[in-house]
Amino acid sequence: MGIHILNCVSMNPLWPRWHVGGVSLLVETDEGPVLVDTGLGLQDYDHPSRLVLFYIAATAIARDPERSAIRQVVRCGWQPEKVRHIILTHLHFDHAGGLPDFPQAWVHTYQPEYAAMRKPHGLVERLAYNKPAFSHGPKWVFHDEINARWFDFDAIRLDFKPEIFLIPLPGHTRGHCGVAIRDGGGWLFLCADALPIDVRFDLLPQWIYRLIIGPHVPRLKAFASAHPQVHLLAGHMGLDFFEKQVSG
Ligand SMILES: [Zn+2]
Repeated sequence: MGIHILNCVSMNPLWPRWHVGGVSLLVETDEGPVLVDTGLGLQDYDHPSRLVLFYIAATAIARDPERSAIRQVVRCGWQPEKVRHIILTHLHFDHAGGLPDFPQAWVHTYQPEYAAMRKPHGLVERLAYNKPAFSHGPKWVFHDEINARWFDFDAIRLDFKPEIFLIPLPGHTRGHCGVAIRDGGGWLFLCADALPIDVRFDLLPQWIYRLIIGPHVPRLKAFASAHPQVHLLAGHMGLDFFEKQVSG
């Protein structure tokens, strides 16, 4: 059993001058390999919708289909059809774009996030979701009932070994979640877009961060320093972080 940390979308905007990748996880479980977030999919790289094309231009995304989760799953030694479960932190194009590459997979989603995608409120939500990523009819598994605690967070226990929890952290989107995964004696906690792109948190005024990524940063930072056995990851990490994963 193990957790592979993948970068399925590289962004290199001129301003702010970030070189970041989008985190996806490939988790070996009793149900086979489980993908947590997909990054961009093949159709985003090869035939992007107008919305995705806009984001590709705005954030200077490298158009490299080899970055897609499906190609990386193969490079990790798995047949893509063996991915029978995908867990999504939220449904933004850069987290859910790879869904059409895994039509056989059950797609675990926090129900309020699906509702936001289906019936967006206002322009910001309408521009946030790339509908073609869902037009193949994913096999949704909706989760909406808090049924557990993970440390002091409300949580939804998913039925996998090692243990996996969805942790609702709304703000960045209506149904945004973190995903906590048992990793040996500790935990990996993918906080996705509730945490800022690691070190550059002081580049923009704090109120802008709160608006974009939601209100959870102080709590997550306090949690991280109180629980050294939990490894927190943001949804977008510096490219050097991914390079270290490969070499280390
Ligand atoms: Zn997002």
